[in-house]
Amino acid sequence: MYFVANWKMFGDLKTLNSLDNVIKFCKNNKKLKSKIIYCPPNTLIRPLSRRLKKTKLEVGAQNCHESDNYGAYTGSVNAKMLKSVGAKYIILGHSENRQLGETDKLINSKIKSATKAGLKIIFCIGETLKEKRNKKTKQVLAKQINNGLQSIRNKSKIILAYEPVWSIGTGLIPKSEDLIKSVSFIKDKFGKKCPKILYGGSVNSNNIDQLKDINILDGFLIGGASQSSKKFIDIIKKTFN
Ligand code: PEP
Repeated sequence: MYFVANWKMFGDLKTLNSLDNVIKFCKNNKKLKSKIIYCPPNTLIRPLSRRLKKTKLEVGAQNCHESDNYGAYTGSVNAKMLKSVGAKYIILGHSENRQLGETDKLINSKIKSATKAGLKIIFCIGETLKEKRNKKTKQVLAKQINNGLQSIRNKSKIILAYEPVWSIGTGLIPKSEDLIKSVSFIKDKFGKKCPKILYGGSVNSNNIDQLKDINILDGFLIGGASQSSKKFIDIIKKTFN
């Protein structure tokens, strides 16, 4: 199982101290076979990767510029630069960035650049509430997958995060039957070479009991709740109880 923490725009150097609880939890639960990946803001990638060196926790970034090279892109960093400070993973296609204008085509370029840089991709897809109400979920997911992963060779190495936009940060999660339908649709689309599929959107220690029963999922992408080490540990514990 994957537990990916998306810290969004949160945290400073002091905040990293809270991870000592998660490190301790992992040390005390050696049998825990899960992948735990923290994606802090870029300012914390280096200090976090140093802190996690001798642990089983890993570090990822939250986005990057699509260019492989340096350039006149004020405020941006590319995948190579993120890799050089310790990122191993990268979240791409997050709906908060799609809402700011990221297109499938741009996300595709970012995936290619990040793959070239040696980062593992966590590729987010998901429908808006309007699209869900209009029964367009499958159509939207298919389009995001087809365009976002166009001419990507090793698709099975990508980690896919199904994150309904209406569920992110709202406290709402899909009905189990709807979630199963969407995840099964994604699985069928890839066939045998299916990537790992995570669910993301308001995962917390109350709703994890419902979500963990959906056994076609490979893990969770956790935003708000991952900013508290206690809540994050509770989610992991409850997943296996
Ligand atoms: C996310 O940002 O990817 C996310 C799932 O956020 P939240 O858990 O806060 O809904």
